[in-house]
Amino acid sequence: MNRTRSVAAFELAQRLMPGGVNSPARAFGAVGGSPVFIDRAEGAYLYDIDGNRYVDYIGSWGPMILGHGHPEVVAAVERALHRGTSFGAPTEAESELAARIIDAVPSIEKVRLVSSGTEATMSAIRLARGYTSRDCLVKFAGNYHGHVDSLLVAAGSSAATLGAPNSPGVTVGSSSDTLVLQYNDVEHLEDAFAAHGDRIAAVILEPVVGNMGVVVPTPEFVAAANRLARQHGTLLICDEVMTGFRVAFGGAQSLLGIEPDLTTLGKIVGGGLPVGAYGGRAEIMNHVLPAGKVFQAGTLSGNPLATAAGCATLRLLKEQPPYERLERLSARLADGLQRAAEEAGVPHTLARVGSMMTLFFHPGPIQSWREASQCDVQRFARFFWGLLDRGHYLPCSQFEALFVSAAHSEADIDATAAAAAEAFRA
Ligand SMILES: *Cc1c(COP(=O)(O)O)cnc(C)c1O
Repeated sequence: MNRTRSVAAFELAQRLMPGGVNSPARAFGAVGGSPVFIDRAEGAYLYDIDGNRYVDYIGSWGPMILGHGHPEVVAAVERALHRGTSFGAPTEAESELAARIIDAVPSIEKVRLVSSGTEATMSAIRLARGYTSRDCLVKFAGNYHGHVDSLLVAAGSSAATLGAPNSPGVTVGSSSDTLVLQYNDVEHLEDAFAAHGDRIAAVILEPVVGNMGVVVPTPEFVAAANRLARQHGTLLICDEVMTGFRVAFGGAQSLLGIEPDLTTLGKIVGGGLPVGAYGGRAEIMNHVLPAGKVFQAGTLSGNPLATAAGCATLRLLKEQPPYERLERLSARLADGLQRAAEEAGVPHTLARVGSMMTLFFHPGPIQSWREASQCDVQRFARFFWGLLDRGHYLPCSQFEALFVSAAHSEADIDATAAAAAEAFRA
């Protein structure tokens, strides 16, 4: 596959932007080589600037559940575009998007719209601290909540350690109140609450993890997080930026049967434009300015174009739910990938919830970052390039979820499974 234009574009971009990109995951750092520059996208396909076509399993890292350029989403954005791109004053469309979110997620009674998932988690954390008058946070290793200072902490050990920042520029002060625990480890969660319970403002978690590859919570773990939070007056924050409207219309919380105090959303709620949201019980949300005293604001929050794309997407997801089709297509892809790996004798395990999945190069089971971090990432990189060169674009890291969209066809899925088998044999 000829990608000379992409290579040249990356050389130029590296002179203009740090690492040549505006978000690090795009730079192919985990798999090596030069990233593909995109010209346009349509349905289930990406087209690069050299004219190559790829079946897209990144879906913009989550938002594009309906595929690229859904005609009704495009029409909604076009209508909004001609009415004005930003006002700095309220619009009815913001209430429509809020109402659609509240309708879908029973634990959300009131919601605030922001412009990214990071902004949503950052604001939810501030609200939880303001509401409880406590400082400490619990997060889980391998869960990503955006680039919020206090959440940019990963575990160095399996014990409940007070976090050390894992990025230069994050002060020890801003992360020292963050306890990092292992996902699915009930005992450590109990220990952390026994030791620090009355200081913990919030437990934040991905209710199905996507950001260390797909990791499914055990029912015991979910129940323990819920129970300990209630017992200690700690807020439970479900970070559903990835899982919201993805694993089910009501998000992962509807599958797990939990009602978090606060929920963060992003990705799909913006339909491919920049939107985030955080919401929860009215009594908690009323602490946000100007109803309450917790400050949070945004010049472009509830932006008319983003709101239009979000409303159109959530309306389509409600009126023509794609979830059964996504389940069928995704099960088919999972089967195909697993069969390919088995035939090649490659140690692997596949984790999937609905249309998000990861083929781990590790025999499994993978319950936390402890196991995920043991994956054969070199093997993954070869697999990634084997598929990319055959026209199938997976996320460029072992520790990401791939996404199936409603625009994928059975033929796309079967072609990807066949390409995977070929890639393993090569
Ligand atoms: C993507 C993601 C975020 C960050 O959202 P951005 O829009 O990239 O800031 C936060 N939490 C989770 C679970 C995510 O998947």
